[in-house]
Amino acid sequence: MQKPLAVLFDIDETLVHTGGAGGRSWTWAFDHLHGVAADIGDHTSAGETDPEVGRQTFEGVMGRTPTDAEMAALYAAYLWHLADDIRTSEGYRVLDGAEEALRALSDAGVVLGVISGAMEGAARTKMEPAGLGRWFVFGGYGSDSPDRTEATRAAIRKASLLVGHDLSPTEVFVVGDTPHDVTSAHAAGATGIGVASGKHSVDELREAGADAVLTSLTEAFPGL
Ligand SMILES: [Mg+2]
Repeated sequence: MQKPLAVLFDIDETLVHTGGAGGRSWTWAFDHLHGVAADIGDHTSAGETDPEVGRQTFEGVMGRTPTDAEMAALYAAYLWHLADDIRTSEGYRVLDGAEEALRALSDAGVVLGVISGAMEGAARTKMEPAGLGRWFVFGGYGSDSPDRTEATRAAIRKASLLVGHDLSPTEVFVVGDTPHDVTSAHAAGATGIGVASGKHSVDELREAGADAVLTSLTEAFPGL
């Protein structure tokens, strides 16, 4: 594999484990706004975007479609709670090798971006306790599109604007912990690198078609 020009990193279970801060914050938001007990795990799966998580959980617990204003209030309440929860979350940690991989890529002249299903505000918040935001100059987020492939396309478009020309699939790597991250990378026209640091195994990521799979970011990064 040749060295990429740009690498996009997923956040949850790829760079950091938040110790459940996201799930708790959704639960708090639903309780605060609607007085209902909501568990996003009952309605969604890992790797879904925040807009999908919010909407599907709303429909699941409220039994109806949310209005635009209700979704806006939900996003705001979620983010409000997350900003506090992330600071006190006992299980919060940066995953093994993440900072070393970011440093190695940065030192090699690779431009770094975020690709996350989290809304931009939530993505930044999740990186804040560890100061990881310093590595990323741009990104694609769940707030760019509820569809992860579209959010990945948005990130690649921003990378192309930054570099000054269109980027081919071999020039952009997407790094993520779920099969959906890998298939979205391919659909958006990027190389898909799986990291088995979340709930999905090396085999599952290979089966999703990953161009390379790492057990963790402590392994040598492809192309370096
Ligand atoms: Mg993830």
